[in-house]
Amino acid sequence: MTDDVAARATAAFRSAYGGPPAGRWAAPGRANLIGEHTDYNDGFVLPFALPLRTVVAAAPQPGDTWTVCSELTGDTVTFGADDVAEAGRVAGWGAYVAGVAWALREAGHAVPGARLAVASDVPLGAGLSSSAALEAAVLAALVDLGGLDLPAERRPRLAQRAENDYVGAPTGIMDQSAVIRCRAGHALFLDCRDESVEQVPFDLDAAGLAVLVVDSRAPHRHADGEYAARRASCERAAGLLGIAALRDVPADGLADALARLDEDETRRRVRHVVTENQRVLDTVALLRAGRVREIGPLLTASHASMRDDFEITVPEIDTAVEAALAAGALGARMTGGGFGGCVLALVDAERGDAVADAVTAAYAERGFAAPGHVTVLPGPGATRLD
Ligand code: ADP
Ligand code: MG
Repeated sequence: MTDDVAARATAAFRSAYGGPPAGRWAAPGRANLIGEHTDYNDGFVLPFALPLRTVVAAAPQPGDTWTVCSELTGDTVTFGADDVAEAGRVAGWGAYVAGVAWALREAGHAVPGARLAVASDVPLGAGLSSSAALEAAVLAALVDLGGLDLPAERRPRLAQRAENDYVGAPTGIMDQSAVIRCRAGHALFLDCRDESVEQVPFDLDAAGLAVLVVDSRAPHRHADGEYAARRASCERAAGLLGIAALRDVPADGLADALARLDEDETRRRVRHVVTENQRVLDTVALLRAGRVREIGPLLTASHASMRDDFEITVPEIDTAVEAALAAGALGARMTGGGFGGCVLALVDAERGDAVADAVTAAYAERGFAAPGHVTVLPGPGATRLD
């Protein structure tokens, strides 16, 4: 699949610009294994890179001019020095590319003019971070073409700035950290308070396991407003408790914290965040000990917490989780912000198709549009291909 997408990037480059690229750079989509709505509470997340990738074929272009085409959108966007001097000058999907050039320039780098062609296997808007994949691949290309000095650990912040400040999408640091820093066979344990990371072994292949990713294709219903409401609720609770963030409530302090809150809804929101942080820590402990099969119940408990306490799931998502578990998945949960997006199911590798079929059948029974699915192993982060 990766070979195909790389070949498609080259083909797109040749047909747009009439010659070969100087190189190709790839960055993956990502899924968060566990730790949902913990990021803005200064907590823990545990993403891994998907084998689905975005590939950018690129070559230098004289002057301060950038031209980029995407086989997915079918159009070409051109921008110049003025557009990378001020945030927000380019709109639409080209903003993710111009935003990277802008962020590089803001950080004091001389950004080389370039021609770029983008191909991708990461579905857009499914919660698998096609946006960070695009930013990371473009960033890697521009850094190499310009011979810029930008070590990997400084790249996530820069890509995040492109998305937050140029595109105008308020996201945390997880997506860009994951797509840039993840390693094959590992998950990335990220502390969102100090942004420290640890590579945690997540060798599904050696354990005869895989992750089935189900794209619910559920329409995102009021997702932005609900996200803002959850965030406000968490901030209010932290204020009432007199702490900087809900991260500061340890699992064994939960009962005390809940007793100090006045409202059932707020208490449930807090309970989700506090127990979810602990589930990330428990998952990391099991993975460090090589006990990957045993993380299933933590994934399923995370889902129940998102469904009942944080109230961010929808019927399509709950149906996928229930059907996957009934078909023998070791654990299953929604991944991403909620109100649609994807479900992850931990499965014995040879059961992937059967579990996917069971989810598809459950969708048909409920009258939902057919879901998408792909069975994956944790892949590498952003890299130069050639
Ligand atoms: P997600 O990151 O979950 O896929 P986002 O809404 O954050 O969803 O980002 C999706 C947007 O990123 C698309 O609407 C498009 O503007 C841009 N994008 C991502 N990948 C590509 C691509 N290969 N070609 C063109 N635009 C892309
Ligand atoms: Mg995104």
